[in-house]
Amino acid sequence: MQQKALSLMQFQKKFGTEKACQKHLFHLRWPEGFRCPRCQHGEAYFHCTRHLYHCKGCGYQASLTAGTVFHKTRTPLTKWFWMIWLMGRQKSGISMLSLQRMLEIKSYKTVWTMGHKIRQALAEREANYKLAGLIEMDDTYFGAPKPGKRGRGAAGKAKVVMAVETPADKPRFAAMQMVPRVGSAEIHSLVGERLATEGVIKTDGWQGYSFLDTAPGLRHEWLVPGSGKEAPKVLPWVHTLIANVKGNILGIHHGVSPKHLPRYLAEFCYRFNRRFWEPQMFNRMLHACLNATTITFLELRT
Ligand SMILES: [Zn+2]
Repeated sequence: MQQKALSLMQFQKKFGTEKACQKHLFHLRWPEGFRCPRCQHGEAYFHCTRHLYHCKGCGYQASLTAGTVFHKTRTPLTKWFWMIWLMGRQKSGISMLSLQRMLEIKSYKTVWTMGHKIRQALAEREANYKLAGLIEMDDTYFGAPKPGKRGRGAAGKAKVVMAVETPADKPRFAAMQMVPRVGSAEIHSLVGERLATEGVIKTDGWQGYSFLDTAPGLRHEWLVPGSGKEAPKVLPWVHTLIANVKGNILGIHHGVSPKHLPRYLAEFCYRFNRRFWEPQMFNRMLHACLNATTITFLELRT
């Protein structure tokens, strides 16, 4: 039977206390019961005040949140849980300002940092998946244009290469990568990291994509050079995605700096790629947060 997503009332009832959130994290982290990270022993004493699991085998003190985005947080887990749920639940994401008000988080800096920690976890998850089969590919620009050269050589804009898997003429999965410049080497890197070794790639007629003609395992279908105006017709889904992600970033997040753009792109792709698995979204996102390298405010700022 298809599992249903929790309603707001059900969510509040289930995760209304710190204890309930900790219990849930414990089950996600150790689904078969406690396992010592050092000696694999299966039993531990729990230190209530320090929130540590003291291994009965080797004495190691394991923390439920060490090595996760929740480590050493001063924000209650109940607020983290709400935040993750709301970020996953809203189809187009949610602004940090709304979350700050809804969750009564005093400082905007705190909620902003939490948002990026969650996005970072989603980005790490996304990086593990590859697109396959029929793929539409294109590149685009974010941000206000600076005077001077237009199009692919334009200065001052963040450049992003995108790929969309489109079996049976419907979009399935998407991958996006910000690049320092749009060139064959950068496109090559997205192809190597995010595309399976076999497939058919459709692009416009720009010569930067010509290396795909000789890439082993890949078949390249491309428009004749100079027919850029035809591109939205021939590559409909990647163009739709480009419009959606730009609308999302402008509408919800009111534009973002190129420095943080990759994490917003990852958040967009994460939700898009799991849009048919809404009931599982929250636990999947929590799982990503449990297994991610955490990023500090200092790292975000510098
Ligand atoms: Zn142990």
